[in-house]
Amino acid sequence: MALTGIEILKMLPKKNCGECGVPTCLAFAMKVAAGQAEIGACPYVSEDVKEKVSEASAPPIRTITLGSGDDKFVFGGETCLYRHEKRFEHPTGIAVMLSADMDPSEIDGRLDRFLALRYDRVGVELKADMFAIKDVGDSQAFVGLVEKVRSKCPDASIILMSEDPQVIKAGAETCGKHVPLLFAATASNAEAMAEVAKETGCPIVVKGENIGETAKISEKLQADGLKDLVLDTGARTMKSVYEDQIVCRRASVKHKYKPLGFPTITFPCEMTDDPFMETVISSILIAKYAGIIVLSDLQGDLLFPLLLERLNIFTDPQRPMVVQEDIYPINGPDENSPVLITCNFSLTYFIVSGEIEGSKVPSWLLIKDTEGLSVLTAWAAGKFSADLIAQFVKKSGIEEKVRHRSLIIPGYLASIKGELEEELPDWKIQIGPREASHLPPFLKSWKPED
Ligand code: SF4
Repeated sequence: MALTGIEILKMLPKKNCGECGVPTCLAFAMKVAAGQAEIGACPYVSEDVKEKVSEASAPPIRTITLGSGDDKFVFGGETCLYRHEKRFEHPTGIAVMLSADMDPSEIDGRLDRFLALRYDRVGVELKADMFAIKDVGDSQAFVGLVEKVRSKCPDASIILMSEDPQVIKAGAETCGKHVPLLFAATASNAEAMAEVAKETGCPIVVKGENIGETAKISEKLQADGLKDLVLDTGARTMKSVYEDQIVCRRASVKHKYKPLGFPTITFPCEMTDDPFMETVISSILIAKYAGIIVLSDLQGDLLFPLLLERLNIFTDPQRPMVVQEDIYPINGPDENSPVLITCNFSLTYFIVSGEIEGSKVPSWLLIKDTEGLSVLTAWAAGKFSADLIAQFVKKSGIEEKVRHRSLIIPGYLASIKGELEEELPDWKIQIGPREASHLPPFLKSWKPED
Protein backbone atom coordinates (compact mmCIF):
# COMPACT_ATOMS: atom_id res chain seq x y z
CA MET A 1 0.00 0.00 0.00
CA ALA A 2 1.47 3.37 -1.00
CA LEU A 3 2.44 5.69 1.87
CA THR A 4 0.95 9.17 2.20
CA GLY A 5 3.14 12.28 2.38
CA ILE A 6 2.41 12.61 6.11
CA GLU A 7 3.40 8.98 6.75
CA ILE A 8 6.66 9.56 4.89
CA LEU A 9 7.24 12.85 6.76
CA LYS A 10 7.11 10.98 10.08
CA MET A 11 10.13 8.92 8.97
CA LEU A 12 12.22 11.95 7.86
CA PRO A 13 14.77 13.67 10.15
CA LYS A 14 12.92 17.03 9.85
CA LYS A 15 16.06 19.14 9.54
CA ASN A 16 14.50 21.27 6.78
CA CYS A 17 18.03 21.69 5.42
CA GLY A 18 17.11 21.59 1.71
CA GLU A 19 19.93 19.20 0.77
CA CYS A 20 17.41 17.00 -1.05
CA GLY A 21 16.75 19.85 -3.47
CA VAL A 22 13.42 20.77 -1.83
CA PRO A 23 13.27 23.50 0.86
CA THR A 24 11.43 21.53 3.55
CA CYS A 25 10.99 17.94 4.70
CA LEU A 26 7.22 18.26 4.23
CA ALA A 27 7.60 19.32 0.59
CA PHE A 28 10.08 16.47 0.05
CA ALA A 29 7.70 13.93 1.64
CA MET A 30 4.88 15.10 -0.64
CA LYS A 31 7.12 14.73 -3.68
CA VAL A 32 8.18 11.22 -2.67
CA ALA A 33 4.52 10.25 -2.10
CA ALA A 34 3.64 11.58 -5.57
CA GLY A 35 6.48 9.59 -7.13
CA GLN A 36 8.33 12.79 -8.14
CA ALA A 37 11.38 12.25 -5.91
CA GLU A 38 13.40 9.30 -4.64
CA ILE A 39 13.61 8.80 -0.89
CA GLY A 40 17.39 8.31 -1.31
CA ALA A 41 17.73 12.01 -2.23
CA CYS A 42 17.69 12.82 1.51
CA PRO A 43 21.19 11.94 2.77
CA TYR A 44 19.98 11.55 6.36
CA VAL A 45 17.44 8.72 6.08
CA SER A 46 18.46 5.25 7.29
CA GLU A 47 18.67 2.20 5.04
CA ASP A 48 15.70 0.84 6.94
CA VAL A 49 13.52 3.80 6.01
CA LYS A 50 14.76 3.70 2.41
CA GLU A 51 13.73 0.06 2.11
CA LYS A 52 10.38 0.64 3.77
CA VAL A 53 9.46 3.60 1.56
CA SER A 54 10.80 2.04 -1.65
CA GLU A 55 8.84 -1.15 -1.01
CA ALA A 56 5.65 0.74 -0.19
CA SER A 57 5.95 2.97 -3.26
CA ALA A 58 6.85 0.16 -5.70
CA PRO A 59 4.26 -0.27 -8.47
CA PRO A 60 1.90 -3.25 -8.03
CA ILE A 61 3.27 -4.71 -11.26
CA ARG A 62 7.02 -5.10 -11.22
CA THR A 63 9.15 -3.21 -13.72
CA ILE A 64 11.36 -5.50 -15.80
CA THR A 65 14.35 -4.37 -17.86
CA LEU A 66 15.90 -6.31 -20.75
CA GLY A 67 18.90 -5.47 -22.95
CA SER A 68 21.79 -3.18 -22.08
CA GLY A 69 23.14 0.37 -22.38
CA ASP A 70 21.11 2.50 -24.83
CA ASP A 71 19.31 -0.62 -26.04
CA LYS A 72 17.26 -1.35 -22.97
CA PHE A 73 13.64 -2.43 -23.15
CA VAL A 74 11.57 -1.70 -20.05
CA PHE A 75 8.09 -3.10 -19.47
CA GLY A 76 5.65 -3.58 -16.58
CA GLY A 77 5.65 -0.99 -13.78
CA GLU A 78 1.92 -0.40 -14.33
CA THR A 79 -0.16 1.17 -11.60
CA CYS A 80 -3.73 1.45 -12.87
CA LEU A 81 -6.51 -0.43 -14.62
CA TYR A 82 -7.63 2.35 -16.90
CA ARG A 83 -5.45 4.78 -18.79
CA HIS A 84 -7.53 7.83 -17.77
CA GLU A 85 -6.89 7.08 -14.05
CA LYS A 86 -3.23 8.03 -14.47
CA ARG A 87 -1.41 6.68 -17.52
CA PHE A 88 0.02 3.42 -18.83
CA GLU A 89 3.73 3.48 -18.09
CA HIS A 90 5.66 1.20 -20.43
CA PRO A 91 4.61 0.24 -23.96
CA THR A 92 3.91 -3.40 -24.81
CA GLY A 93 6.98 -5.07 -26.29
CA ILE A 94 6.61 -6.41 -29.82
CA ALA A 95 8.63 -9.58 -30.44
CA VAL A 96 9.15 -11.69 -33.55
CA MET A 97 9.42 -15.47 -33.34
CA LEU A 98 12.54 -17.20 -34.62
CA SER A 99 13.22 -20.93 -34.40
CA ALA A 100 16.61 -22.62 -34.59
CA ASP A 101 15.34 -25.04 -37.28
CA MET A 102 14.06 -22.31 -39.60
CA ASP A 103 15.35 -21.99 -43.12
CA PRO A 104 18.32 -19.52 -43.03
CA SER A 105 16.71 -17.35 -45.70
CA GLU A 106 13.57 -17.10 -43.58
CA ILE A 107 15.65 -16.08 -40.55
CA ASP A 108 17.51 -13.48 -42.60
CA GLY A 109 14.20 -12.16 -43.93
CA ARG A 110 12.83 -11.66 -40.41
CA LEU A 111 16.02 -9.96 -39.24
CA ASP A 112 15.98 -7.70 -42.32
CA ARG A 113 12.35 -6.77 -41.74
CA PHE A 114 13.09 -6.02 -38.09
CA LEU A 115 15.75 -3.54 -39.23
CA ALA A 116 13.80 -2.08 -42.14
CA LEU A 117 10.34 -1.60 -40.64
CA ARG A 118 11.02 1.53 -38.59
CA TYR A 119 8.94 4.68 -38.72
CA ASP A 120 9.50 8.18 -37.43
CA ARG A 121 6.38 9.63 -35.82
CA VAL A 122 6.10 12.66 -33.54
CA GLY A 123 9.88 12.56 -33.20
CA VAL A 124 9.73 8.98 -31.91
CA GLU A 125 11.10 5.93 -33.70
CA LEU A 126 8.40 3.27 -33.92
CA LYS A 127 9.67 -0.29 -34.34
CA ALA A 128 9.48 -3.86 -33.11
CA ASP A 129 11.55 -4.47 -29.99
CA MET A 130 12.79 -8.03 -29.68
CA PHE A 131 13.12 -11.58 -30.92
CA ALA A 132 11.83 -14.73 -29.25
CA ILE A 133 14.38 -17.42 -30.13
CA LYS A 134 13.16 -21.01 -29.83
CA ASP A 135 15.34 -24.05 -29.20
CA VAL A 136 14.31 -27.24 -31.03
CA GLY A 137 16.71 -29.64 -29.31
CA ASP A 138 19.93 -28.53 -31.02
CA SER A 139 21.82 -26.35 -28.56
CA GLN A 140 24.54 -25.42 -31.09
CA ALA A 141 22.02 -24.17 -33.62
CA PHE A 142 20.22 -22.27 -30.84
CA VAL A 143 23.36 -20.54 -29.60
CA GLY A 144 24.39 -19.82 -33.22
CA LEU A 145 21.05 -18.13 -33.82
CA VAL A 146 21.39 -16.04 -30.65
CA GLU A 147 24.84 -14.93 -31.86
CA LYS A 148 23.44 -14.04 -35.27
CA VAL A 149 20.62 -11.94 -33.81
CA ARG A 150 23.05 -10.16 -31.47
CA SER A 151 25.42 -9.27 -34.28
CA LYS A 152 22.83 -8.32 -36.93
CA CYS A 153 20.24 -6.60 -34.72
CA PRO A 154 22.19 -5.35 -31.69
CA ASP A 155 19.33 -3.14 -30.46
CA ALA A 156 16.90 -6.07 -30.25
CA SER A 157 16.10 -7.55 -26.85
CA ILE A 158 16.04 -11.33 -26.71
CA ILE A 159 13.71 -13.96 -25.27
CA LEU A 160 15.45 -17.33 -24.92
CA MET A 161 12.97 -20.21 -25.26
CA SER A 162 13.93 -23.75 -24.29
CA GLU A 163 12.75 -26.49 -21.97
CA ASP A 164 16.37 -27.34 -21.16
CA PRO A 165 17.88 -25.15 -18.40
CA GLN A 166 21.42 -25.77 -19.69
CA VAL A 167 20.51 -24.60 -23.20
CA ILE A 168 18.91 -21.47 -21.70
CA LYS A 169 22.07 -20.88 -19.70
CA ALA A 170 24.26 -21.20 -22.81
CA GLY A 171 22.00 -18.71 -24.61
CA ALA A 172 22.15 -16.25 -21.70
CA GLU A 173 25.97 -16.49 -21.63
CA THR A 174 26.03 -15.73 -25.36
CA CYS A 175 24.00 -12.57 -24.70
CA GLY A 176 26.65 -11.39 -22.19
CA LYS A 177 25.60 -8.12 -20.58
CA HIS A 178 22.62 -7.73 -22.93
CA VAL A 179 20.08 -9.10 -20.45
CA PRO A 180 17.68 -11.62 -22.08
CA LEU A 181 14.33 -12.90 -20.81
CA LEU A 182 14.44 -16.61 -19.98
CA PHE A 183 11.46 -18.72 -21.07
CA ALA A 184 10.26 -20.53 -19.01
CA ALA A 185 9.99 -21.96 -15.52
CA THR A 186 7.19 -24.55 -15.55
CA ALA A 187 5.78 -26.85 -12.86
CA SER A 188 8.21 -29.57 -13.96
CA ASN A 189 11.46 -27.57 -14.23
CA ALA A 190 10.93 -24.58 -11.91
CA GLU A 191 13.83 -25.38 -9.56
CA ALA A 192 16.44 -25.93 -12.26
CA MET A 193 15.28 -22.85 -14.20
CA ALA A 194 15.30 -20.77 -11.01
CA GLU A 195 18.96 -21.75 -10.53
CA VAL A 196 19.80 -20.52 -14.05
CA ALA A 197 17.91 -17.26 -13.42
CA LYS A 198 19.86 -16.75 -10.20
CA GLU A 199 23.22 -17.58 -11.79
CA THR A 200 22.69 -15.34 -14.80
CA GLY A 201 20.72 -12.58 -13.01
CA CYS A 202 18.14 -12.60 -15.82
CA PRO A 203 14.36 -12.19 -15.50
CA ILE A 204 12.42 -15.38 -16.13
CA VAL A 205 8.96 -16.24 -17.45
CA VAL A 206 6.70 -18.32 -15.20
CA LYS A 207 4.55 -20.57 -17.39
CA GLY A 208 1.61 -22.49 -15.99
CA GLU A 209 -1.05 -24.63 -17.64
CA ASN A 210 -3.54 -22.03 -16.43
CA ILE A 211 -3.59 -18.86 -14.35
CA GLY A 212 -3.91 -20.77 -11.05
CA GLU A 213 -0.84 -22.88 -11.72
CA THR A 214 1.05 -19.79 -12.94
CA ALA A 215 0.33 -18.04 -9.61
CA LYS A 216 1.54 -21.10 -7.66
CA ILE A 217 4.86 -21.32 -9.55
CA SER A 218 5.28 -17.55 -9.18
CA GLU A 219 4.77 -17.79 -5.42
CA LYS A 220 7.31 -20.62 -5.22
CA LEU A 221 9.96 -18.71 -7.22
CA GLN A 222 9.44 -15.58 -5.13
CA ALA A 223 9.85 -17.62 -1.95
CA ASP A 224 13.08 -18.89 -3.54
CA GLY A 225 14.33 -15.29 -3.79
CA LEU A 226 13.55 -14.45 -7.45
CA LYS A 227 12.15 -10.99 -7.99
CA ASP A 228 12.08 -10.40 -11.75
CA LEU A 229 9.31 -12.58 -13.14
CA VAL A 230 7.08 -12.40 -16.21
CA LEU A 231 3.82 -14.35 -16.46
CA ASP A 232 2.62 -16.71 -19.20
CA THR A 233 -0.73 -18.10 -18.04
CA GLY A 234 -0.69 -20.74 -20.78
CA ALA A 235 -3.75 -19.23 -22.48
CA ARG A 236 -3.69 -19.62 -26.26
CA THR A 237 -7.21 -18.60 -27.29
CA MET A 238 -8.44 -15.04 -27.60
CA LYS A 239 -11.12 -15.50 -24.94
CA SER A 240 -8.87 -17.12 -22.35
CA VAL A 241 -5.89 -14.81 -22.90
CA TYR A 242 -8.14 -11.74 -22.69
CA GLU A 243 -9.68 -12.96 -19.43
CA ASP A 244 -6.29 -13.81 -17.95
CA GLN A 245 -4.83 -10.41 -18.79
CA ILE A 246 -7.67 -8.70 -16.97
CA VAL A 247 -7.51 -11.06 -13.97
CA CYS A 248 -3.74 -10.53 -13.64
CA ARG A 249 -4.02 -6.73 -13.83
CA ARG A 250 -7.03 -6.52 -11.51
CA ALA A 251 -5.59 -8.94 -8.93
CA SER A 252 -2.29 -7.06 -8.75
CA VAL A 253 -3.49 -3.45 -9.01
CA LYS A 254 -6.75 -3.65 -7.04
CA HIS A 255 -6.02 -6.48 -4.61
CA LYS A 256 -2.22 -6.29 -4.35
CA TYR A 257 -2.01 -10.02 -5.06
CA LYS A 258 1.75 -10.50 -5.29
CA PRO A 259 1.96 -13.81 -7.24
CA LEU A 260 0.37 -12.04 -10.24
CA GLY A 261 2.15 -8.70 -9.74
CA PHE A 262 4.29 -9.05 -12.87
CA PRO A 263 4.01 -8.11 -16.54
CA THR A 264 2.72 -10.75 -18.95
CA ILE A 265 3.94 -12.32 -22.17
CA THR A 266 1.39 -13.44 -24.78
CA PHE A 267 1.64 -15.39 -28.03
CA PRO A 268 -0.72 -14.19 -30.79
CA CYS A 269 1.57 -16.17 -33.14
CA GLU A 270 0.29 -19.40 -31.55
CA MET A 271 -3.39 -18.44 -31.65
CA THR A 272 -3.99 -18.29 -35.40
CA ASP A 273 -2.34 -18.94 -38.78
CA ASP A 274 -3.94 -15.86 -40.32
CA PRO A 275 -1.60 -12.81 -40.18
CA PHE A 276 -4.58 -10.44 -40.24
CA MET A 277 -6.27 -12.21 -37.30
CA GLU A 278 -2.91 -12.26 -35.48
CA THR A 279 -2.82 -8.47 -35.84
CA VAL A 280 -6.39 -8.12 -34.56
CA ILE A 281 -5.56 -10.27 -31.50
CA SER A 282 -2.36 -8.26 -30.94
CA SER A 283 -4.24 -4.98 -31.09
CA ILE A 284 -6.61 -6.20 -28.36
CA LEU A 285 -3.72 -7.37 -26.21
CA ILE A 286 -1.85 -4.06 -26.57
CA ALA A 287 -4.96 -2.31 -25.26
CA LYS A 288 -5.57 -4.93 -22.60
CA TYR A 289 -2.43 -5.15 -20.57
CA ALA A 290 0.01 -7.47 -22.39
CA GLY A 291 3.63 -6.77 -21.40
CA ILE A 292 4.95 -8.50 -24.54
CA ILE A 293 3.23 -9.85 -27.65
CA VAL A 294 5.08 -12.38 -29.79
CA LEU A 295 4.28 -12.19 -33.52
CA SER A 296 5.07 -14.85 -36.12
CA ASP A 297 6.66 -12.30 -38.48
CA LEU A 298 6.68 -8.61 -39.37
CA GLN A 299 4.73 -7.17 -42.26
CA GLY A 300 4.73 -3.40 -42.72
CA ASP A 301 1.01 -2.95 -43.41
CA LEU A 302 0.12 -4.96 -40.29
CA LEU A 303 2.89 -3.74 -38.01
CA PHE A 304 2.39 0.01 -38.58
CA PRO A 305 -1.19 0.15 -37.20
CA LEU A 306 -0.05 -1.80 -34.12
CA LEU A 307 2.83 0.62 -33.55
CA LEU A 308 0.50 3.61 -33.87
CA GLU A 309 -2.05 2.05 -31.53
CA ARG A 310 0.70 1.39 -29.01
CA LEU A 311 1.98 4.96 -29.34
CA ASN A 312 -1.49 6.33 -28.64
CA ILE A 313 -2.35 4.05 -25.74
CA PHE A 314 0.94 4.58 -23.96
CA THR A 315 0.90 8.35 -24.34
CA ASP A 316 0.19 10.21 -21.10
CA PRO A 317 -3.42 11.45 -21.54
CA GLN A 318 -2.72 14.40 -19.24
CA ARG A 319 0.13 15.76 -21.35
CA PRO A 320 -0.32 16.94 -24.92
CA MET A 321 2.10 15.57 -27.49
CA VAL A 322 4.58 18.19 -28.54
CA VAL A 323 7.44 18.71 -30.96
CA GLN A 324 10.55 20.61 -30.06
CA GLU A 325 10.76 24.39 -30.51
CA ASP A 326 13.05 24.87 -33.50
CA ILE A 327 13.45 25.84 -37.15
CA TYR A 328 12.40 22.96 -39.40
CA PRO A 329 13.71 23.03 -43.01
CA ILE A 330 11.26 21.37 -45.44
CA ASN A 331 12.03 20.51 -49.10
CA GLY A 332 15.59 21.95 -48.89
CA PRO A 333 14.95 25.70 -48.36
CA ASP A 334 17.46 28.48 -49.05
CA GLU A 335 17.79 32.20 -48.25
CA ASN A 336 14.85 33.09 -50.52
CA SER A 337 12.39 30.53 -49.16
CA PRO A 338 9.20 31.44 -47.28
CA VAL A 339 9.18 31.39 -43.49
CA LEU A 340 6.08 30.12 -41.68
CA ILE A 341 5.39 29.90 -37.97
CA THR A 342 3.01 27.72 -35.99
CA CYS A 343 2.59 26.12 -32.54
CA ASN A 344 4.26 22.96 -31.19
CA PHE A 345 1.11 20.82 -30.77
CA SER A 346 2.33 17.72 -32.60
CA LEU A 347 -0.85 17.23 -34.61
CA THR A 348 -0.60 20.82 -35.91
CA TYR A 349 3.07 20.31 -36.74
CA PHE A 350 2.43 17.10 -38.69
CA ILE A 351 -0.52 18.51 -40.64
CA VAL A 352 1.28 21.77 -41.49
CA SER A 353 4.64 20.15 -42.31
CA GLY A 354 2.85 17.48 -44.36
CA GLU A 355 1.08 20.10 -46.48
CA ILE A 356 4.31 22.08 -46.97
CA GLU A 357 6.12 18.91 -47.97
CA GLY A 358 3.30 18.02 -50.36
CA SER A 359 3.51 21.49 -51.96
CA LYS A 360 7.17 20.77 -52.88
CA VAL A 361 7.92 24.44 -52.11
CA PRO A 362 11.21 24.72 -50.14
CA SER A 363 10.22 26.42 -46.87
CA TRP A 364 11.32 27.18 -43.33
CA LEU A 365 8.84 26.21 -40.62
CA LEU A 366 9.31 27.87 -37.23
CA ILE A 367 7.82 25.87 -34.36
CA LYS A 368 7.17 27.95 -31.25
CA ASP A 369 6.79 26.20 -27.89
CA THR A 370 3.15 26.67 -26.85
CA GLU A 371 3.20 23.83 -24.31
CA GLY A 372 1.37 21.58 -26.75
CA LEU A 373 -1.61 23.90 -27.22
CA SER A 374 -3.09 24.39 -30.69
CA VAL A 375 -2.92 27.81 -32.41
CA LEU A 376 -6.11 29.47 -31.15
CA THR A 377 -6.03 27.85 -27.70
CA ALA A 378 -2.40 28.91 -27.28
CA TRP A 379 -3.21 32.46 -28.37
CA ALA A 380 -6.18 32.59 -25.94
CA ALA A 381 -3.94 31.27 -23.15
CA GLY A 382 -1.32 33.95 -23.84
CA LYS A 383 1.27 31.43 -25.06
CA PHE A 384 1.23 32.44 -28.73
CA SER A 385 0.98 36.20 -28.38
CA ALA A 386 2.76 38.79 -30.57
CA ASP A 387 5.46 39.57 -27.99
CA LEU A 388 6.30 35.87 -27.43
CA ILE A 389 6.35 35.14 -31.16
CA ALA A 390 8.64 38.15 -31.69
CA GLN A 391 11.02 37.02 -28.94
CA PHE A 392 11.20 33.55 -30.50
CA VAL A 393 11.76 34.84 -34.05
CA LYS A 394 14.64 37.05 -32.83
CA LYS A 395 16.41 34.30 -30.92
CA SER A 396 15.62 31.44 -33.35
CA GLY A 397 18.41 32.31 -35.81
CA ILE A 398 16.05 32.52 -38.82
CA GLU A 399 17.38 36.00 -39.60
CA GLU A 400 20.72 34.43 -40.57
CA LYS A 401 19.04 31.88 -42.82
CA VAL A 402 16.94 34.16 -45.08
CA ARG A 403 17.56 37.43 -46.90
CA HIS A 404 13.94 38.61 -46.90
CA ARG A 405 11.95 39.60 -43.79
CA SER A 406 8.51 38.15 -44.48
CA LEU A 407 6.86 35.98 -41.86
CA ILE A 408 3.72 33.95 -42.60
CA ILE A 409 1.46 33.51 -39.57
CA PRO A 410 -1.57 31.18 -39.32
CA GLY A 411 -4.77 32.69 -40.76
CA TYR A 412 -6.49 32.33 -37.39
CA LEU A 413 -4.01 34.83 -35.91
CA ALA A 414 -4.78 37.59 -38.44
CA SER A 415 -5.83 39.88 -35.56
CA ILE A 416 -2.26 40.06 -34.15
CA LYS A 417 -0.69 41.23 -37.46
CA GLY A 418 -0.39 44.90 -36.40
CA GLU A 419 0.90 44.08 -32.94
CA LEU A 420 3.46 41.66 -34.36
CA GLU A 421 4.71 44.25 -36.85
CA GLU A 422 5.30 46.59 -33.92
CA GLU A 423 7.23 43.89 -32.06
CA LEU A 424 9.18 42.92 -35.20
CA PRO A 425 9.75 46.26 -37.00
CA ASP A 426 12.16 44.73 -39.54
CA TRP A 427 9.63 42.09 -40.62
CA LYS A 428 6.54 42.15 -42.82
CA ILE A 429 3.79 39.93 -41.50
CA GLN A 430 1.82 37.93 -44.04
CA ILE A 431 -1.45 36.20 -43.20
CA GLY A 432 -1.39 32.55 -44.21
CA PRO A 433 -4.48 30.44 -44.89
CA ARG A 434 -6.72 29.35 -42.01
CA GLU A 435 -6.65 25.70 -43.08
CA ALA A 436 -3.39 23.84 -43.61
CA SER A 437 -4.87 22.17 -46.69
CA HIS A 438 -4.80 25.58 -48.43
CA LEU A 439 -1.05 25.98 -47.87
CA PRO A 440 0.17 24.38 -51.14
CA PRO A 441 -1.51 26.93 -53.50
CA PHE A 442 -0.60 29.74 -51.08
CA LEU A 443 3.09 28.75 -51.05
CA LYS A 444 3.25 28.16 -54.80
CA SER A 445 2.23 31.78 -55.44
CA TRP A 446 4.12 33.23 -52.45
CA LYS A 447 6.38 36.28 -52.85
CA PRO A 448 8.17 38.12 -50.04
CA GLU A 449 6.70 41.50 -49.19
CA ASP A 450 8.91 44.50 -49.67
S1 SF4 B 1 17.56 16.62 2.95
FE1 SF4 B 1 16.32 15.38 4.35
S2 SF4 B 1 16.36 16.54 6.24
FE2 SF4 B 1 17.01 17.95 4.66
S3 SF4 B 1 15.11 18.97 3.97
FE3 SF4 B 1 15.42 17.22 2.66
S4 SF4 B 1 14.23 15.62 3.62
FE4 SF4 B 1 14.52 17.18 5.19
